[in-house]
Amino acid sequence: MKIIDEKKIIGILEKTKNASWDNFEKIIEKAKKIKSLDLEEVGVLVNISDEKLIKKMQEAAHEIKMAIYGPRLVLFAPLYISSFCVNDCAYCGFHQRNKAPRKKLSLNEVKKQVEILEDMGHKRLLLEFGEDPEKNSIDYVIDVIKTIYSVKKERGAIRRVNINIAATSVENYKKLKEAGIGTYQLFQETYHRPTYEKLHSGPKADYDRQITAMDRAFAGGIDDLGIGVLFGLYDWRFEVLSLVAHADYMEKNFGVGPHTISVPRFRPAPTVDFKAEHEVSDKDFLKLITILRLAVPYTGMIMSTRESPKIRRRAFEIGISQTSAGSRTTPGGYNQKKEEELAQFNLSDHRTLDETVYDICNLGYLPSFCTACYRSGRTGDEFMKYAKAGTIQNFCQPNAISTFMEYLMDYASPETREVGEKVIRQQMKNINSAEVRTNLENRLEKIRKGERDLYF
Ligand code: SF4
Ligand code: SF4
Repeated sequence: MKIIDEKKIIGILEKTKNASWDNFEKIIEKAKKIKSLDLEEVGVLVNISDEKLIKKMQEAAHEIKMAIYGPRLVLFAPLYISSFCVNDCAYCGFHQRNKAPRKKLSLNEVKKQVEILEDMGHKRLLLEFGEDPEKNSIDYVIDVIKTIYSVKKERGAIRRVNINIAATSVENYKKLKEAGIGTYQLFQETYHRPTYEKLHSGPKADYDRQITAMDRAFAGGIDDLGIGVLFGLYDWRFEVLSLVAHADYMEKNFGVGPHTISVPRFRPAPTVDFKAEHEVSDKDFLKLITILRLAVPYTGMIMSTRESPKIRRRAFEIGISQTSAGSRTTPGGYNQKKEEELAQFNLSDHRTLDETVYDICNLGYLPSFCTACYRSGRTGDEFMKYAKAGTIQNFCQPNAISTFMEYLMDYASPETREVGEKVIRQQMKNINSAEVRTNLENRLEKIRKGERDLYF
């Protein structure tokens, strides 16, 4: 089965240009029943420009998000480990043309960065490495993961390490699996082959190596897989249909769709002279998040601090279920006062984790530091079983409350603690099962007395 059929996608985008109102209504009704949408249905939504219909789509997306994930918003931090890279991707500050000195963290420096992140309250990291088979060998990557899991500062612990490394072999994916990673993320950047080939040079320029990476990762035993696109490289409509096609391919071939979809938008960076010909406006960006939420309801959606607080707030309502906070995008960045010259991209949200948590509470959402699923064996199709039955919330909601309580006790500022405790009281009421509520109340009491890491 071909993963991306460009001609077919372009044909669908053309064919669905003038879809009828009746057709639109049927698609929204189907989406509200939490059924994945097919490519033609996604094509219809992509072509909608009527503001009233877009509003209807957003309302449906919000409903779906709340039905599957509830009000929780999972927080994580990226940890840049090495900026050595043999590729020259036109849009990235780590490209080879950038002659600024490169940095690779020693294991001792990794430990120091992790201690800083633990002191902030983070429990979940996403590791970032440039591609360099010598400097960033798989053995180094594994040593970094082991080091991270071993760092325990006071009540701090990183409980889930997700990872973003270049496309590699089944053997190397097996090693990552054995090291206990959570999700393996790799973005196609653009699914449009001619654009992909134009914007890359180095080993990553091989489109087929990139697009088949998920197949090898799955063969290596990793079943929580994250895909994504860098929006702005090519027409977002084509990319959205391609993401849905890739998700469909994974579902059919692996029996499990992507665990997450990430939606980064191109951001400038020092030394990057790439000009996005297909820049995505804020309006289109929010629309594409809405469409993805409707099309692949069981897939978590991730947004980073590339986006401004304003866009992030709106995106949380319509589909984003995970977000980074308090991020730095340089190796060693967490103990530097400001971003260095060699950053992968510029950030738009410079708030601390505590400020972000405070804001999330005021928006009516529930910040979560949960890492329970992969530690309880709920990965791949086992995870999807709960997501599809709509019962994953029975885990997400109590785990969000207990991990948030830990955060409030150990790391929050007085203002955040005050608003956070109100959120917890409010969210306890949303737990329908009396048994779960009682169990959770007992756990919260234990957390108040000093126990940690209690999860469902
Ligand atoms: Fe290297 Fe990744 Fe940046 Fe490309 S996007 S230059 S592979 S770090
Ligand atoms: Fe994620 Fe599972 Fe925790 Fe829900 S219970 S937030 S799906 S790890």
